[in-house]
Amino acid sequence: SKTKSTELIEQTEKFGAHNYHPLPIVITEAEGVWVKDPEGNKYMDMLSAYSAVNQGHRHPKIIQALKDQADRVTLTSRAFHNDQLGPWYEKICTLTNKKMALPMNTGAEAVETAVKAARRWAYDVKGVAENHAEIIACTGNFHGRTMTAVSLSSEEEYKRGFGPMLPGVKLIPYGDLEALKSAITPNTAAFLIEPIQGEAGIVIPKEGFLKAASDLCKENKVLFIADEIQTGLARSGKMFACEWEEVVPDMYILGKALGGGVFPISCVVADEEILGVFNPGSHGSTFGGNPMACAVSVAALDVLIDEKLADRSLELGKFFVDGLKKINNPAIKEVRGRGLFIGVELNVPARHYCEKLKEEGLLCKETHETVIRFAPPLVINNEELNWAIERIKKVFS
Ligand code: PLP
Repeated sequence: SKTKSTELIEQTEKFGAHNYHPLPIVITEAEGVWVKDPEGNKYMDMLSAYSAVNQGHRHPKIIQALKDQADRVTLTSRAFHNDQLGPWYEKICTLTNKKMALPMNTGAEAVETAVKAARRWAYDVKGVAENHAEIIACTGNFHGRTMTAVSLSSEEEYKRGFGPMLPGVKLIPYGDLEALKSAITPNTAAFLIEPIQGEAGIVIPKEGFLKAASDLCKENKVLFIADEIQTGLARSGKMFACEWEEVVPDMYILGKALGGGVFPISCVVADEEILGVFNPGSHGSTFGGNPMACAVSVAALDVLIDEKLADRSLELGKFFVDGLKKINNPAIKEVRGRGLFIGVELNVPARHYCEKLKEEGLLCKETHETVIRFAPPLVINNEELNWAIERIKKVFS
């Protein structure tokens, strides 16, 4: 007879649109770095829901905030004020050292918000002629799945059949300063970049690029927008990956771990000169800034700060990379990463190895064919990492 997992997977495949290709595992319970399937098998989560669960699954303080808020009020819409939004604004502005924030729900929506802000800023502040604003992005980027985000993409499969694309987009090779120089015109509103490309396979730009790009943007009155949806909030061993080059972006785009893996919330943060371009009626979201999201997010940020998860990621990341580099196998081309944001690039497709790792109790997902991403919840400890390294060794022996 069929297992519960098989039944659930068949049901999912039968009724669901096939826009994902998950590993054949069903998760019914989770705590910290561990998850369980319906048969009671235990696995270590090495993906953290694409870095949305940096604080660990069901962190007790975040769950408490969720429960407390659920007992009071969950949704007011922005037609009225709620008592959780103000404290959240102050918290995220303090953390990012910016003056204003605008909350949305998903990462892609925050990217939309950033592009709208940059375009309006170009017209209202920089003086670009109406409808001529340009956004520069990088090849290999991932900014989400909405029409704006896929219009920014260089991936044919993200765009095929979805045209016409949004105009006013220019792409440069990731990390290519000369190309950025050539791409900037008086109509350039913003340069949008992931400080480390996540979905492209944990790609780190050449040292000095972020700083030089940020300086170049300043000289040309171009907004430097950091999509830190995946790299931010302690994942890369710093609170923000831009800190690796002491870059202060004009705008941060945040999401994922902003809600502690418990409740969706995303945002953009910037100074008033930029976010001041929004007036009532120009932008919004029914659920954006809702009290559940804000209460959960304040708790999620407190956990990152109180538990020093950026430092922890930095330290344990070094330890993990050292362990991974000791594995000798010709299939491994490169081990790279910052903090607990690690990519192991293979000479062969990674899917097969992810399936093998799953059999050993380790949940990883291949990214871009040949890269295995290791990005466990940042609450992981040395002992658990050793456990993981032993299993990875076995699969690559
Ligand atoms: N930007 C980056 C850098 C991401 O990694 C992601 C998600 O993987 C997104 C944007 C899109 O976020 P969401 O899936 O919440 O729309």
